[in-house]
Amino acid sequence: MYAPLISTSVTPTDKSPASYWHATHQSESFPSLSLNIDTEYLIIGGGYTGLSAAIALAEAKKNVTLLDANNIGFGCAGRNAGFVLSGSGRLSLAAIEKNFSKRIALGMQREFDDSVALLHQRISQYAMNVDLTKGPYIKLAHNKAQANNLRQNAIRQNLHFGSSIQLLSKSDIDARLDIRGIFGAVETQGACLHPLKLADEYARISTQLGASLYCNTPVSAIVKHHDGYKIATTKGTVFAQNVIIASNAYTPKIFHKAVDNRQFPVQSSILVTPPLTPEQQKLTGLTSPMSFMDTRMMKYYYRVLPDGWLLFGGRGAVRGENANSKTNQQRLYHAMATMFPALKPLGIDYFWSGWVSVSLDSMPRIFTHDEGRLGYAMGYCGSGVAFAAYAGQQLVKRMLDSDSVDTSLPLYQSPLPRYPFAACRRLALRGLYKWAKIAQA
Ligand SMILES: Cc1cc2nc3c(=O)[nH]c(=O)nc-3n(C[C@H](O)[C@H](O)[C@H](O)COP(=O)(O)OP(=O)(O)OC[C@H]3O[C@@H](n4cnc5c(N)ncnc54)[C@H](O)[C@@H]3O)c2cc1C
Repeated sequence: MYAPLISTSVTPTDKSPASYWHATHQSESFPSLSLNIDTEYLIIGGGYTGLSAAIALAEAKKNVTLLDANNIGFGCAGRNAGFVLSGSGRLSLAAIEKNFSKRIALGMQREFDDSVALLHQRISQYAMNVDLTKGPYIKLAHNKAQANNLRQNAIRQNLHFGSSIQLLSKSDIDARLDIRGIFGAVETQGACLHPLKLADEYARISTQLGASLYCNTPVSAIVKHHDGYKIATTKGTVFAQNVIIASNAYTPKIFHKAVDNRQFPVQSSILVTPPLTPEQQKLTGLTSPMSFMDTRMMKYYYRVLPDGWLLFGGRGAVRGENANSKTNQQRLYHAMATMFPALKPLGIDYFWSGWVSVSLDSMPRIFTHDEGRLGYAMGYCGSGVAFAAYAGQQLVKRMLDSDSVDTSLPLYQSPLPRYPFAACRRLALRGLYKWAKIAQA
């Protein structure tokens, strides 16, 4: 599998994963770029960030071209679990308040909530078919200390941030689910969708609004040229007045100084079981669309799909070539079967992995250089179904009129911090996984 820490680029020959999403949806294809072109805005990356930026620019009547090295949704956008989360990065509102201030935490909450609102608004405005399902979203504590943490944070969020989070004791959970190793939980209303359909719907809307999309067109270099940029691809050259880098964790190792060594691509893997039988549904309590995340440092996340299959995700392999290894599959399956013993005989129907973009300080960034003519948004740390599209839109707003976003928020204040000792990132990750295994045992 493509490995961004060592590979020079995603290529058109890299295969999309054999995922449940690809098995249940046929994506539209787009031509590759074969000529030299001029464009006002060039977007690199056809995931949610790039496609949403294309929609925002096309809505503002700008001339916009988007290039993807492979296909629309080749990156995380076509591989994720489809949880619609009000949040991004790895910091809770309580942590943001502690690290910054209450005003900043409230500002960030507004951004997170606006990202979910934007998704719903576009679904309705553009009649998007994304298999949206609503149901409980339950955050599960994997030990007593985390149960207490969840409880305290929920009480604080309900009191100070106007949230309506329900507290669930261990016995509340036991009454609803046959799940092992859980010590308490909190519940909110959740929503999930088909991530690849979402990417395709964004592509449909952006082209309908006038954006030009080209696939199988890897960008190999971005250089300053007169008062714009000259962008090299395998076949054509693009002369752009403005550039948006929306390649997220799939950004090649050396690409542009604005993003090089400023995010850490980390793999997350997903398995999908065959559909649960009515008896297995009854035994486990996994009876209808619902979604879960736990409190481990290396979180497990799972959801019941609309047709009764169980999707279960967690940390992936350190190296790209081990993405689909037996060990990696068995580790995840073992975790699922340990939590839900009734599902032990099920087996795996689909298994795939993708690269998540982790920022050094757990905070995503929406940032511009060159007086607003080159921008990027990335570092969502695995929470981007709603937020990446919002970030794409906010980046466009910032590039069109820098006063239109609240640049006092840490999202906009500074560039993604550079990783010290970037060459040692994989070694550090291996150490972290070993430590987490011991700490969580
Ligand atoms: C397994 C997994 C599960 C996840 N689950 C969830 C979830 O349930 N909920 C949630 O909120 N988030 C989830 N996420 C995170 C979420 O999917 C991402 O944050 C989001 O999709 C990021 O979108 P993006 O457009 O920024 O990047 P991507 O979708 O990764 O798109 C980047 C694109 O850039 C292209 N590209 C890269 N380099 C070049 C180049 N040189 N030239 C041209 N194109 C290039 C790639 O081909 C790719 O298509 C998950 C991620 C993974 C991997």
